Parts: sequence; C-alpha cells; structure tokens
Amino acid sequence: MSFDDSWHHSSQFNWPKQFPVSINGTRQSPIDIREKDATQVLLPHFNLKCIEGDQNANWVMTNNGHTLSLAPPAGVKWQLSGSLLKGKYILDHFHSHWGESGDYGCEHLLDGEKFAGETHFVFKWAPGQGKECEDAAAVWGIMMDEQPKSEPVAQKTFDDIIGKHIHKVIKPGSCSIPAINFASLVPHGSSEYFAYQGSLTTPPFAEVVLHIVFKDPIEVSKKYMDQLRSLGDLRGGKTDANYRAIQPLNGRKIFWSC
Ligand SMILES: [Zn+2]
Repeated sequence: MSFDDSWHHSSQFNWPKQFPVSINGTRQSPIDIREKDATQVLLPHFNLKCIEGDQNANWVMTNNGHTLSLAPPAGVKWQLSGSLLKGKYILDHFHSHWGESGDYGCEHLLDGEKFAGETHFVFKWAPGQGKECEDAAAVWGIMMDEQPKSEPVAQKTFDDIIGKHIHKVIKPGSCSIPAINFASLVPHGSSEYFAYQGSLTTPPFAEVVLHIVFKDPIEVSKKYMDQLRSLGDLRGGKTDANYRAIQPLNGRKIFWSC
C-alpha cells in the first residue's frame, strides 16, 4: 500500500507554493463560523439511507499517515439527500482532525470556540443524476469535545470499535473492523447546523465541498483522543496535529438551520 508523502500538516507554510489554490482560492476551508455572519433558514430534513449492500458487513480502517479514515466496504452505499443538497450523495468515508492537546484540534471554529477534534463524514456526488454539481462533495462535520468519558453513541463507535482495533494501524496501513453505525454519531434529525460552500481542507484544496457543520459537539473520551494523537505518520513520527489553519470568509453566505 502506498500513501501520499508529498505534503504534511507540519509544513503548511509550503502549501501556497505547492498548491496555489490554497492561497488564491476564494472559497477555502475551514473558516471561523460566526453567528453574526449566518442567515437563519428553514431547511427540510436530511434523508440518509442504505440503498445497496449489507449494512452489517465489515468496514475498512486506514491510517494513511495524515488521518484515520473509516470506510464502508465496496458495494455498501449510504445515500444522503435533503436539506440544501442539490441531489444525491454517497458516503465515501469519514476521518478526523485533532491537535497536540485537548484544547484545540478542530478545523472549523464556532464563534471562535475550539474543540479537541472534528470528524468529517465525506459524501460524494452520486453518479447517474444526469447533471454535474459544483459541490462534488458534501461533508458533515461534527466537533469532538474531549471529556473524561465518551457519551454513549461515541463510546459505542470510537472507544468500543475503533479504539479496540486502532493498535493494528499505529503504523500507516489498513485493517478490517466491525460495521460502524456512523449515523448515530451525527444528530442530523434534530441538531442545528451551519452550511457554506468551501473546499477540501487537505491537498489539493479543490473548491468543491459543501460543508455542513453541526452546532452541538459530541463528547469523546480523552483516552480515544490520545489514541488518535499516538498514530504514526509517514516519517516515523506521530500525527499529533492534523488540522488546517482558518481561512478568510470572503463574503460567503453561511446558512444556519432553524
Ligand atoms: Zn477533514
């Protein structure tokens, strides 16, 4: 298995040279989401369902040297639509961002507030819809609030499934893990969220992402956050901080569900 060793979070100062859009772009992510910049709108609910494959089949966990990625097996299709999405999206994987300590590590800020981490559920525009969409990906983001103990849904996924197998991918690589009920981690039926048009927060920083950031964080144990912080990177060190710096809003519209 080969991983991309051409960039690192620890050398973000190189990114403008390596990836011009990261500095010249107009809709880069992450941003500090300020309520005063947001417009409240009444939006339909999200609609999430498994449309193909066995929901109980094993998932794949990968330490790619930049983050920990969790993906459903090939053939299992979780479809997301509704809210302000312009069509159907299929879950590709989810991954997290974190920092050296529990005081910071998320990518987006909520009115300047930082959390220990942020998990991104990445959905890709479903093929066969007869049109393209400028937002090729829709990303659900949820803040990870480090606490002595995880709340029950986080305990079930992060501590009891991922945490139990994470030792197999301390060095970059993949392993198989039991199926993950990822939807239980995201309060997509009830919680308020913000949405805006942004970019990938890692290379190549393509400006094709509709970011949906939930207002309420999820409580995650320090033990699990420590496990993330102890993952090895591609240079024999640790992936101890993998969040991108805040980018300018550039007058973009932020929607705030209500
Ligand atoms: Zn991310």
